[in-house]
Amino acid sequence: MKTLASIFDGPLTRFIEPVSQNELNQRLTMGKATGVAVICCAEMCYVNSLFPADPKLPIFTWQNLGGCVNDSGGLEDLIAEKKISDVIVLGHYGCEIIEVGLRSDPRSEAPAEKIYQEVARRTSPTKEAMKERFGDKFDKHIFNRAVEDFVLRELASLLKLPAVYNAAEGGRLRAHAWINRDDTMENACYDPKTRTFWVLPDDYKH
Ligand SMILES: [Zn+2]
Repeated sequence: MKTLASIFDGPLTRFIEPVSQNELNQRLTMGKATGVAVICCAEMCYVNSLFPADPKLPIFTWQNLGGCVNDSGGLEDLIAEKKISDVIVLGHYGCEIIEVGLRSDPRSEAPAEKIYQEVARRTSPTKEAMKERFGDKFDKHIFNRAVEDFVLRELASLLKLPAVYNAAEGGRLRAHAWINRDDTMENACYDPKTRTFWVLPDDYKH
């Protein structure tokens, strides 16, 4: 059975650092993180509350339908200019945009589905992976696995962009995959060692 890790088996895995929200925020306030880029879904209206409130901190946020990395204009330039030390692809469990994407047909011309065409196109590898792992079953558990799969695929495609790859390879850029739980506001982060998303101890709120 294919697992999450198969997305990252290979050289890109070494660029992923599991970091807690607390630790990253400390790095930001202490000036150790010189620029943080966050790519997330437009539904996450609370995204600013995950980071320190100081408006002078170098946090750059891109929000779009589902948190697709291809819609993050200017990010590559900032990375090439060495202004970003950390990039986070930040998903959220229960993402309705990803759910719509998984359920729609990327070729559909129906106006109601048209705005989701790009999301449907980008979620189609996730749709296939879920089918391979779970068959035709689709429940809340599988949906959470789909969000994880999608976030990792987006991060993998970001890391393949030349400016991003070079910065990561040169040790100037760390990549993180996080998924926020809307109910507890905890961040689960992808850990290449355990090959799962989990809430690191210093972010654990219960
Ligand atoms: Zn969403």
